[in-house]
Amino acid sequence: MVAVLEASGLEVCKGGRRVLAIEHLAVAEGEVLGVVGPNGAGKTTLLMVMAGLEPGFRGRLAVRGSPLDPRRLLAHRRSLGVVFQDPQVLDATALANVMAPLRYRGVPPAEARRRAYLWLERVGIGHLARRPARVLSGGERQRLALARALVTEPRILLLDEPFSSLDAPTRALLIADLRRLLAELRITAVMVSHDFTEMLLLARRVAMMIGGEVRQTGEPREVFSHPADPEVARLVGMENIWPAEVVAGPQGSRVRVEGLELKMIGDRSPGSVYLGLRPEAVVLAADGRACEDCSGSWFPGRVRAVVPYGPLVRVELAEPLPLVALIPPARAVDASPGDRVRVFIPADSLHVFDYSPGN
Ligand code: ADP
Ligand code: MG
Repeated sequence: MVAVLEASGLEVCKGGRRVLAIEHLAVAEGEVLGVVGPNGAGKTTLLMVMAGLEPGFRGRLAVRGSPLDPRRLLAHRRSLGVVFQDPQVLDATALANVMAPLRYRGVPPAEARRRAYLWLERVGIGHLARRPARVLSGGERQRLALARALVTEPRILLLDEPFSSLDAPTRALLIADLRRLLAELRITAVMVSHDFTEMLLLARRVAMMIGGEVRQTGEPREVFSHPADPEVARLVGMENIWPAEVVAGPQGSRVRVEGLELKMIGDRSPGSVYLGLRPEAVVLAADGRACEDCSGSWFPGRVRAVVPYGPLVRVELAEPLPLVALIPPARAVDASPGDRVRVFIPADSLHVFDYSPGN
């Protein structure tokens, strides 16, 4: 199948620095592709290239198989809906804002009004049609931007961090509505975010970007469970990453980190690696009772901090290695900074990454 958008050998330089270098990235018809990366990864730049708003790129961007023609940039832009990170609104009513793209395209006022109302309803702010756009709250403004992007019924929707400035409850509601809307419309969408958890709900596939490059693509669950390298691992919430050493033991490989020798699953050739561990995989216990049946390693640790973390408790250890554990309150030990606790790391929760000096 021909990709709706396909980038190959894409490069953008800014301020004398290469900020985007994408070997290949394709977006299939009807797909919701999430682009995730830290600040400065080049996500917005990529979206701008796709939107035809960054014409100074090198390489190739094909739209349904044809290279983007610099003389047809306006037509390309008009065929897309774009929601920017901080949407600017016209100093007019919400309704007039959503009518505007239709009016530019010569749709008669009565028809434009009818369609604008319809889209305000569909994004859940029909009741705010007569409100001046500038008095809308952050969440309402994002909904307005969404209605304005969709009112022309584009086949492609590009969204740049649409939720990043919203408080948690507003964000959750908007994510749920957007998820429903994307499924109903079967629109091709590219959505940028620095927050991987949003993608678990919204995207069918994710592209993980670091330093202008796509490091890994795959289904969100797959990337979550098998991040390709330590930096991608950090992006999917694997907070514990340590340089370590695989050593051969009598019962298979073990991994040495900060003087500890931890049980791991499978055999690997001895040498330097990075070791990753999700904070929610760590088990803490107040007493020293060993868990004979579980495959893993117990060791004594010293607590540095205990802080509430949403519905979980975040326990940070200082010794024998810096470690973060996220524990449901029911399993949390009653520990204070300075206390000793027993720490258990299940063997099957250790991720071993090849060592490369760039990491
Ligand atoms: P993201 O959206 O992932 O945060 P951007 O695409 O906005 O990243 O930016 C990518 C990189 O390009 C950043 O390092 C940023 O500092 C740099 N950059 C963006 N615009 C300019 C510019 N006009 N001049 C120089 N550097 C820029
Ligand atoms: Mg950005």
